[in-house]
Amino acid sequence: MVRDIVKFGSKALRQKCQPIKTVNAQIEALIEDLFDSMRAAEGVGLAAPQIGMLKRVIIVDVSRQDPSHLPLALINPKLVKAEGKEITEEGCLSFPELYGDVERHTHVTVEALDTKGEAFTVEAEGFFARALQHEIDHLDGKLFIDFISPLKRQLMRGALKRLKKEGEQWDKENLAAK
Ligand code: ZN
Repeated sequence: MVRDIVKFGSKALRQKCQPIKTVNAQIEALIEDLFDSMRAAEGVGLAAPQIGMLKRVIIVDVSRQDPSHLPLALINPKLVKAEGKEITEEGCLSFPELYGDVERHTHVTVEALDTKGEAFTVEAEGFFARALQHEIDHLDGKLFIDFISPLKRQLMRGALKRLKKEGEQWDKENLAAK
């Protein structure tokens, strides 16, 4: 099911998410919703808090940029090795149409559980590595704008203000109801 992707300003984006203890049907449904929502928004990755679920689950799909990588779901992902550094522009589905230069590692190793609850390791570089780092950050409430230059952030001020209102409104309508 395609879910709302929450915007900057929502409290959901600033929380530390909970690890998954058991990979069950509920988690499988969450992953399906993440894929549906990411594809509808034409993104390359999505983290559970972006649809308001404070769980350590992310998906990454860079298959359009690099067909050698299949779409991937990672449960409890953990960055275990990171090397090299590179500054490139990136964006986020919680910040539509905003982009900024962010320094990321060029090579990373990530450990996670798959949809069957089995542990696996993924080694990534370049754009794939960047997408993984960006999504894992979401699970600790870290957002790409935390890393951009103060000047760039200043330039985005008006857009951020508008987004913040949108995120706060979503919280009012959705978090209060729970
Ligand atoms: Zn993001």
